[in-house]
Amino acid sequence: MRIDVLTLFPEMCEGVFGTSILGKARDKGIVSLNAVNFRDFSGNKHNSVDDTPYGGGGGMVLKPDPIFAAVEHVLAETGPEASPGEAAISPLVKPRIILMCPQGQTYTQQIAEELAQEQHLIFICGHYEGYDERIREHLVTDELSIGDYVLTGGELPALTVIDSIVRLQPGALGNETSAVTDSFSTGLLEYPHYTRPAEFRGWKVPDMLLSGHHANIEVWRREQALQRTLERRPDLLETADLTAKDKQTLKRLQEQASLNEK
Ligand code: SAM
Repeated sequence: MRIDVLTLFPEMCEGVFGTSILGKARDKGIVSLNAVNFRDFSGNKHNSVDDTPYGGGGGMVLKPDPIFAAVEHVLAETGPEASPGEAAISPLVKPRIILMCPQGQTYTQQIAEELAQEQHLIFICGHYEGYDERIREHLVTDELSIGDYVLTGGELPALTVIDSIVRLQPGALGNETSAVTDSFSTGLLEYPHYTRPAEFRGWKVPDMLLSGHHANIEVWRREQALQRTLERRPDLLETADLTAKDKQTLKRLQEQASLNEK
């Protein structure tokens, strides 16, 4: 997989790209991570990439030409004219060009899983008041928001999305199974974890986890995941993939909860 991030602050990305799971995935050749400064494509001697809005009003707007030129540069690098070794991406692959913006689709684990299947992603990070609308209309394939709040720039949102995608790549995590049971991957919140010591300040690890009976532990964990989701995020239960046994367990948990309320 190749990921390019178009930004005015490539140094914000480089630190994250070289650290922890992302750094290891990059070193192992699982993913190629590149920060591209679109100021390099300003096309003017002042290197300016923004201008005042037509119609007046406050704030500066990112101009279309540097961003189009930076995307076209990345596409040329990965296309048929690419220099040898520059890119392992087939020219037939159509990259997803993702605009980070608070007005986009709200990012979820489901979208992470979908994007993790792609071979090439290009992220565009805004700054200032926003983008010239022609970028939205004629360049990008997706618009993503990480939530209903506004940040200064698109770097932290893009890095958030990239982190969640890279950790889904085969071989990126030390323990292959750990992404499978993560919250949201199963449609539920994850069950609780414990480690040594078995007793800490008088608080004991549940007996079941010390029993060594793996089948029963799996049943316990599933029930804990259902209970936790019911308590904290009941909305997730509407779309989660539940077995008949899960539904029975949920009914029992709901009955117990209403008894406890009385
Ligand atoms: N004026 C814009 C609006 O009201 O929609 C907000 C611009 S914001 C100050 C600057 C940049 O930060 C955006 O272009 C976007 O790249 C990024 N950004 C801010 N909040 C974001 C969010 N919740 N999700 C994704 N990107 C965000």
